[in-house]
Amino acid sequence: MNYRGAARKFLESSGISIGDIIKITTNDVFYEGMLLDRADSKEEKNLVLKLDSGYNIGVDITEATIELVGKGEKPKIELPPLEIKEEDEKPNVSILSTGGTVASIIDYKTGAVHPAFTAEDFLRATPELLDYAMIKGEAIFNILSENMKPEYWVKLARSIADEVNNGAYGVVVAHGTDTMHYTSAALSFMLDTPVPVVLTGAQRSSDRPSSDAFLNLMSSVAAAKSDIAEVVVCMHATENDSYSYIHRGTKVRKMHTSRRDTFRSINTAPIAKVKEGKIKVVDKNLEYKERRDGPIKLRDSIEPKVAFIKSYPGIFNESIDYYVDKGYKGIVIEGTGLGHCPEDVIPSLERAVDSKIPVVMTSQCIYGRINMNVYSTGRKLISAGVISGLDMLSETAYVKLIWTLGQTEDLGEVARIMHTNIAGEIEDTSSLQHFLI
Ligand code: GLU
Repeated sequence: MNYRGAARKFLESSGISIGDIIKITTNDVFYEGMLLDRADSKEEKNLVLKLDSGYNIGVDITEATIELVGKGEKPKIELPPLEIKEEDEKPNVSILSTGGTVASIIDYKTGAVHPAFTAEDFLRATPELLDYAMIKGEAIFNILSENMKPEYWVKLARSIADEVNNGAYGVVVAHGTDTMHYTSAALSFMLDTPVPVVLTGAQRSSDRPSSDAFLNLMSSVAAAKSDIAEVVVCMHATENDSYSYIHRGTKVRKMHTSRRDTFRSINTAPIAKVKEGKIKVVDKNLEYKERRDGPIKLRDSIEPKVAFIKSYPGIFNESIDYYVDKGYKGIVIEGTGLGHCPEDVIPSLERAVDSKIPVVMTSQCIYGRINMNVYSTGRKLISAGVISGLDMLSETAYVKLIWTLGQTEDLGEVARIMHTNIAGEIEDTSSLQHFLI
């Protein structure tokens, strides 16, 4: 078993093994279910239980008592044989898995821990995918997306480039939803792709009746076969299973902790909707890059040492000074309203710029555009050399600064690139109507 330390001792002293049905009582609350193994072998004081409802929960055993309800079998991963016939007429779509709920289909179904999730695993869970494409692929990582790092974005970009250069007609990336929009922005800057690169995930695992994994995967394979040759996110458009949206990778954000339609296009419309495998453009005026022949271009130099700070009433100067003194190469500050922060902080931002550290201003409002010309604070920020994030999402601006500093250290050039539309991240007009979509 992967349990270590206190949790392992606790189990061994009670003669409990993986697969047993146990009852854990803690502070008058009890949980009964099957004991699952941990996915990793970290020393933690939690046991993972599969409840009858199908939910897996972690229970803290610090003050708990444990009772064996019934002996059980250690769950086995039973993988049925999978026969894939090569069919020339179907396009090749590669599914690259990075982890997250969408890649935990087998874990949740069998209660067993399956460390890597390959294209074959996806096909076993969703064999219908084979009606639409020849699916191949591999697990690049098996991590929760909160553990993503800029270096991993580079590794993923290179793996996608290999798939495309080896003939993939489109690529689907299975990803945890928490930071999917950071990865989609990073891939948008790093890849100039002639075919679709589609990120997808799931808010609920596939053994739950309300799972979104099936529709998200089916729609994403359809998107990967479409003529939208950009990095996009394809996820549920509504709370039911009626259709999905294809969002531009630089203009999308996770907006709800649990809703299936958590991803929204911000300051723009989604590029298209996918209903029963058919793609329909949402706003005819929104241009997108079309599928074309030729190799994928990889622009994967980055400088990860960028700070991402939120401005708030009471922020201390030292919060900015810290990053300057620690040798950070860039700062994105998510300000208030049109792009403001307390005047007290402006000297520290000026000091950062004087130390050749670019500072980019975005807004906590999420919707709308930075305009530092309206109020006196904004004008002071402009004189301090702060760069406007225009209508970019804060997360996109952060990723873009990491990518831009990989191309140049020159402050003027950084400002020029930050204000150049590279991957649809900047729109000329951020119209009010998109607030309501
Ligand atoms: N927090 C995890 C992640 O983002 C699991 C949730 C999910 O996949 O949406 O990877």
